[in-house]
Amino acid sequence: MAATLTRPESINAVFTRKGGAAPTATHYCPGCGHGVIHKLIGEAMDDLGIRERSVMISPVGCSVFAYYYFNCGNVQTAHGRAPAVATGISRACDDAVVISYQGDGDLASIGLNETLQAANRGEKIAVFFVNNTVYGMTGGQMAPTTLTGEVTATSPCGRDPREAGYPIHMCELIDQLQAPVFIERVSVSDIAHIRKARKAIRKALEVQRDGKGYAFVEILSNCPTNLKQTTQASIDWVNNDMAGEFPVRQFRDRSEEVEAYRRSPRVWDKATLDALYDLDSKAAPDAPVDPSVKPVGIRIAGFGGQGVLSLGLILANAACQAGRFTSWLPSYGPEQRGGTANCSVQIAGDEIGSPVVAEPDILVALNRPSLERFMRDAKPDGVILYDDRIEDVELPAGAKALAVPAVRLAVEAGSEKAANTIMLGVISGLGLTGIDRQYYIDAMLENFTDKPKLIQLNEAAFALAEEWVQRHK
Ligand code: SF4
Repeated sequence: MAATLTRPESINAVFTRKGGAAPTATHYCPGCGHGVIHKLIGEAMDDLGIRERSVMISPVGCSVFAYYYFNCGNVQTAHGRAPAVATGISRACDDAVVISYQGDGDLASIGLNETLQAANRGEKIAVFFVNNTVYGMTGGQMAPTTLTGEVTATSPCGRDPREAGYPIHMCELIDQLQAPVFIERVSVSDIAHIRKARKAIRKALEVQRDGKGYAFVEILSNCPTNLKQTTQASIDWVNNDMAGEFPVRQFRDRSEEVEAYRRSPRVWDKATLDALYDLDSKAAPDAPVDPSVKPVGIRIAGFGGQGVLSLGLILANAACQAGRFTSWLPSYGPEQRGGTANCSVQIAGDEIGSPVVAEPDILVALNRPSLERFMRDAKPDGVILYDDRIEDVELPAGAKALAVPAVRLAVEAGSEKAANTIMLGVISGLGLTGIDRQYYIDAMLENFTDKPKLIQLNEAAFALAEEWVQRHK
């Protein structure tokens, strides 16, 4: 009797996440191995009853859109970062079956370190590594697994090991580590190989279902498009050329001898986190949703050492105490060693989706490079506050810009280091955020709790700034 082909429940019948075009067809090229591998994973998820527990991670590569197809939790990640995201999800949700689906360019190149570290830690994730020896999505460039002599878009004369090294063998590399539970290399080149691949994929998912640890399945697959072959020729090439370099075999199966490892449940409620980080709940009161609050995005920038990040923190803390939804996003980097530092603060009456402030309502620029870099990002009706020692700058047409004698007033108060507090006093005095001045003063004093000698200086600076605003209103 002929077997009936059916779609696994774990694969969507209609790919609504594609956004409309060809909603029942995958985006993969005809003859590509990805479709077969997807089906094997979907069938295993069904048969093992793990769909509701499964989270599929798809980073950059031809399978970047795996979330169109799998009817389970999905997370799309940055290039090579699937092991880090998978680690986070696995550790946050101990019962999750976490699946990292990666190609060779992603896993064995930009993500090599993360792959090895996750394997070495024995993270509870199943990695399905699709090896077709080229970067498929970007046009068939040489990948870490490209065979010696193989012609690709970036090795037109064939991979030369003297220039480009030798193909990386991921199973063999991972097999050097102690922690992994299951490692196997399989192929989807023909029916006999697909049967073995099916078994290996199931085993990797069983290891996850049972909470036993890290499983790695390398799957030799064909990319007829980039190898510029017919489907049959590409299948023959996998069997004859690829499998010679990457022998299909099982490297390790410790699933019987390894005990399940269960982490204690993670508790994420506010009281637990406050206790964990020694936070006083009163210091961060719950913000009520208030549609009347106009959201304000602030960007503060200057040299490292000018108190840029501190000013952002003070603003954020003041807004927090005033019962606003608040975020503070610092930009770290070489600015910590004297370059240009910046941070973003958002103040809103409802939940903040992203802490990034691309177009600030208020830009505070404490030095020329910051002003020049960010002034064109400010909203047309935004306000630019910059130190008045910055001269001869062509401000954007129509900009509401105010040259503030921040450093000069700070020196008058006692130290040019209080220039950030001058800007705080100006923001308060001009009423730019709708937050009462007392919240700013309290947040400023709180900021100097550990440095009481600086309190007087900053109080004086704040007062000078307010006087200056009164004179220039
Ligand atoms: S480019 Fe290659 S790997 Fe990518 S979808 Fe097409 S055949 Fe598959």
